[in-house]
Amino acid sequence: MEKNVEKVWSNCLKIIKDIVEWQHFKTWFEPIQPVSLKGNVLVIQVPSQFFYEYLEEHYVNLMSKSLKRELGKEARLEYRIMVDSGNSRNKPVTMDVAGQGFKAYGNNEMDFPLVINTPVRNPFVIPGLKKVQIDPQLNPSYTFDTYVEGDCNRVARRAGKTVAEKPGANSFNPLVIYGGVGLGKTHLAQAIGNEVKRLHPNKVVLYVSAEKFIQQFMDHSRNNAINDFIHFYQLIDVLIVDDVHFFAKAEKTQDAFFAIFNHLHQSQKQLVLTSDKSPKDLEGLNERLLSRFRWGLSADLQVPEYETRVEILELKMKKNGLEMPKEVVKYIAYNISNNVRELEGALISLLAQSSLNRREIDLDLAKKVLRNFVKSSSKEITIDTIQKMVCEYFDVAYDKLLQKTRKREIVQARQITMYLAKAFTKNSLKTIGEHFGGRDHTTVIHSCQTVKDLMDTDGVFRENVLELQQKVQLAAM
Ligand code: ADP
Ligand code: MG
Repeated sequence: MEKNVEKVWSNCLKIIKDIVEWQHFKTWFEPIQPVSLKGNVLVIQVPSQFFYEYLEEHYVNLMSKSLKRELGKEARLEYRIMVDSGNSRNKPVTMDVAGQGFKAYGNNEMDFPLVINTPVRNPFVIPGLKKVQIDPQLNPSYTFDTYVEGDCNRVARRAGKTVAEKPGANSFNPLVIYGGVGLGKTHLAQAIGNEVKRLHPNKVVLYVSAEKFIQQFMDHSRNNAINDFIHFYQLIDVLIVDDVHFFAKAEKTQDAFFAIFNHLHQSQKQLVLTSDKSPKDLEGLNERLLSRFRWGLSADLQVPEYETRVEILELKMKKNGLEMPKEVVKYIAYNISNNVRELEGALISLLAQSSLNRREIDLDLAKKVLRNFVKSSSKEITIDTIQKMVCEYFDVAYDKLLQKTRKREIVQARQITMYLAKAFTKNSLKTIGEHFGGRDHTTVIHSCQTVKDLMDTDGVFRENVLELQQKVQLAAM
């Protein structure tokens, strides 16, 4: 039976959506339109050349793997690139290109982080290969060169360098790198791996996420092959385990890891671990494991300071051959201060927007994009939403809220709604009044004041308002 192009593409998207971060999914996958399916060739339309290149560079592996699930091993992808979107007089101009680099990916089970259900005996190696042929599972672009140094990461970065120069033979064993999301743990841990490979090509390096490690452990225990699993890991010279906080509560996995850790440490092999908290604050991990984590050095990563953020942006731009006015770079660095991943996300959104709209990057565009960027994580709350929430909370009929009823409960519900609308929306007092059956702005001011006063004097009332406030806050997230 002929497969349906829409169906095939939407199945691919289902997989992709699970793996790609939401913001990136929206930016890079939602604008794609499936065009046709002829045999095993799927054609998708993308809005620009830049888009096509970006997909090919960053997502070809993922798209390949998901498409091959749909259409089999011979699946191929072609792009239709929108060169000119046309107008009422001129037809749109498009250009078809075959996906490059598509073939190279997706045939090897291990090159893709989808959970693979076929049990593998040695998790990263085809039986019979020599140990030096274990693929380190490193991303070559995560290096020290591309990891900007700042006060936020100086200790961790320098310790990482030392470890890479003399793996195993240093006092930072294990090296534990910890810090919040998007602060560069994975990058730094991988940079260590890549540097070891560069300086000591014969060392066996392996990077694995704790999640993958747990998955492999479970596959092996189902197949009664735990010893194989442990022996495999004991072959490694530099073992990098990312996000060990995921070991929490996985007790059996911790036991296996404990055995591996001890063996490697005793044989002066290097361990590099990352975690979202310092070993002393990690919960759900076995104490004997934690005490070993404290044997070496724990170094934290902090949020980068403004100058470092500027430097990181400039480096990312240079790496991608991009240019934008200095004032725009400063604007982004100034406004996005939580973590580096968001910083990159903003940069990428900006590029995507400029490419979609065929518009040079300038401060105006940056302001527009960043506004959306921030908004995407915090929803706009409307007066209606707040009205519904309050009605539900006090079990009051919606229409009563708008009428001129003087019943005390209803009056209070109405006043609280106005108060919350004032606090959580950007609407003017006039607009808020209009949403309550055409009351004027002085009524709204009066309501807000009454709520404030009552909160000071009436404990139960206060509790109610605070609880509602929390609900609205959650809904806005
Ligand atoms: P984590 O593992 O802590 O969540 P990552 O290592 O994935 O964070 O980093 C998120 C993104 O930020 C990556 O793309 C990484 O390259 C980048 N990044 C983090 N810190 C730096 C830095 N100091 N210099 C350059 N890029 C950085
Ligand atoms: Mg990480």
